[in-house]
Parts: sequence; C-alpha cells; structure tokens
Amino acid sequence: MITTLRDILASGERSFSFEFFPPRTETGTRALWRAIRRIETLKPTFVSVTYGAGGSSRDRTIEVTKQIAADTTLRPVAHLTAVGHSVAELRQIIGRYADAGVRDILALRGDPPGDPQGEWTPHPHGFAHAHELVSLIKEMGDFSVGVAAFPERHPRSPDWESDIRHFVAKCRAGADYAITQMFFRVEDYLRLRDKVAAAGCDTPIIPEIMPATDVRQIRRFAELSNATFPEDLAHRLEAARDNPAEGHRIGVDHATVMAERLLAEGAPGLHYITLNRSTATWEIHQNVQTSRSARHALAAHR
Ligand code: FAD
Repeated sequence: MITTLRDILASGERSFSFEFFPPRTETGTRALWRAIRRIETLKPTFVSVTYGAGGSSRDRTIEVTKQIAADTTLRPVAHLTAVGHSVAELRQIIGRYADAGVRDILALRGDPPGDPQGEWTPHPHGFAHAHELVSLIKEMGDFSVGVAAFPERHPRSPDWESDIRHFVAKCRAGADYAITQMFFRVEDYLRLRDKVAAAGCDTPIIPEIMPATDVRQIRRFAELSNATFPEDLAHRLEAARDNPAEGHRIGVDHATVMAERLLAEGAPGLHYITLNRSTATWEIHQNVQTSRSARHALAAHR
C-alpha cells in the first residue's frame, strides 16, 4: 500500500515539504532538477509541483510530477486546478496521475488566466469551486487530497464567515489537509486556525513559508496573493537593497523565526516555496532542525 500524506499527518508526524514550479526552458529544467536532487537529500515528507494557468505548462507539471514519482525517492503532491477544464478532462488527468502511482493531489479552483484578480468564470462543463474537484478525486480512487487555505481570507471572500464556511465545505467534501497561501505574520495563521477549529473542523492546516530575501519580488508576490508584507521587514530589506547577501540573511532569519514559532504553536508541518532554488529554504530548514534538536537535547538532559 502506498503511504500518502494523509496517513503521515494522521500519525501525528510533522511534515516538511518543498514546492516547485514547471520550468519553461532547458536552463530552467536543469536548475529545477539540481534543486530537486539537493532537496532529496533532506528526505522531505513530500515535494509539490504547481499547475500552470494554461497551455503547455500544464503538461510540464504532469511530466515533472510523474518523473519525480518514477525517478526519485520523493513523494510528489500534484497541484490540479479546475481552470479551463471540463469534468471529462479533469477525470483524464487524475487517471494519468493514478497510472503513474501519484496518490496525493492538491485540489484547487485556480484563478482566471491572464488576470488572477479578475472575475472567475467556470468552464461550461467544469467546476465552479474547489470542493467539487475534491469530491471528484475522492470518487475516482483512494487519493489523499489537499486544499488551499487563506490566512488573510481569500481576496474574493466578502467576509470571514463565508470564507470559513466554504473552507469547511471543502474539508467536508473529503479534503485530508490544507496548505496555506503565503503570509508573513504568524498571527494570521493562528487566527485562521482558530476560526476553522471554532467551526468544528479539525483538518490539519500546513503553513506555507516564503523566504523574503528580495523586497521587490516579494512585494509583487504579496500583492498577487493578498498577503500583508510587514513594513519593518520591508524597511530592513530596502536598506539592504545593494547588499544581496544581507537581504538573504534578513529573509532567512525572518522565515526561521516564523517557522519555529509556527511549530511551537502546533502547526502540523511547514511547506517551503523554493522558486526552484534550494538555497534559502535549505538554510531555513537546517536552522529549524538545529534548534529543534538542541531543544530535544536540553529536555533530555533535564
Ligand atoms: P475555492 O475553494 O473554490 O474558493 C475560491 C473562492 O470562492 C473563495 O472566496 C471561497 O470562499 C469562494 N467559494 C468557495 N465555494 C463556494 C461556494 N460554494 N459558493 C460561493 N463561493 C464559494 N493556483 C494555480 O493556478 N496553480 C497552482 O498550482 C496553485 N497552487 C496553490 C497552492 C496553494 C497552497 C494555495 C494556497 C493556492 C494555490 N493556487 C494555485 C491559487 C488558487 O488556485 C487561488 O488562490 C484561487 O483563487 C482559489 O482557489 P481555491 O482552491 O481556494 O478555491
């Protein structure tokens, strides 16, 4: 039997994982595989590959995910969105994953192609919301299914009440766990977790960690994903604008502090965004491991 992320989280084991995106060029492909091979040595719980907004990048997601399943020791989690797909096409893609032995899928609605903040229009023979995709995947086989969660609310949710209600509906449709959108303040994760728990839902929510090492890039990502970027962090990164090594250190330190606090608060794991480079996430992971080992050694000594 294949052990899935669902089984691992149910056992109480903390997960740690890394996210990649499908590259567009040969150079990008080489960089991706260098990063994957380096991350493989850390023996992460899983790695995931994002699903593009359309066209050939989608085939590349499927190919990279299948290659990870076939050629590495890693457990791949395949992202899949409902954007531009009929239900028949979604069935076919899920079947391709099953054939390749991929049993973990992150079920997402996706954003309107071209303008992620534009009006969402479902495919005429497709799904309007992620909970329908969760149900389809669960119907098709014994998959472990994840969904998206939003520490600062989905940008299109009119209020917290509807945001949490729809999130809980995805969990009730069969989601085994959730992974959050990027965020930069631990309190945002804790507020979401507490609201979900207050709604009677105990689905594990894995926080996503985005190393903020380059202020311009991060501001753009934060804007796209509706994440508040703390001004004090922005100022420190701005001050280090001409010193990339210092910017890197500030970003790694900030993410390390967040990651340690999230684990201390009981988060079921950490999901690192790599942007297909391994350096910053590798360092954050090592920092977190080192301080956890030191704490365990201290506790054993007492
Ligand atoms: P949904 O759960 O459908 O929610 C979307 C909005 O609709 C929310 O406001 C929700 O409250 C509302 N809603 C839900 N159900 C109902 C209902 N029944 N009636 C009325 N309103 C409802 N995008 C990609 O294109 N590719 C990726 O690989 C990708 N990976 C991601 C990974 C993570 C961890 C996260 C957090 C996001 C990812 N995204 C990706 C982005 C995601 O697709 C978008 O944020 C999208 O806008 C929301 O997707 P969802 O699955 O949460 O949608």
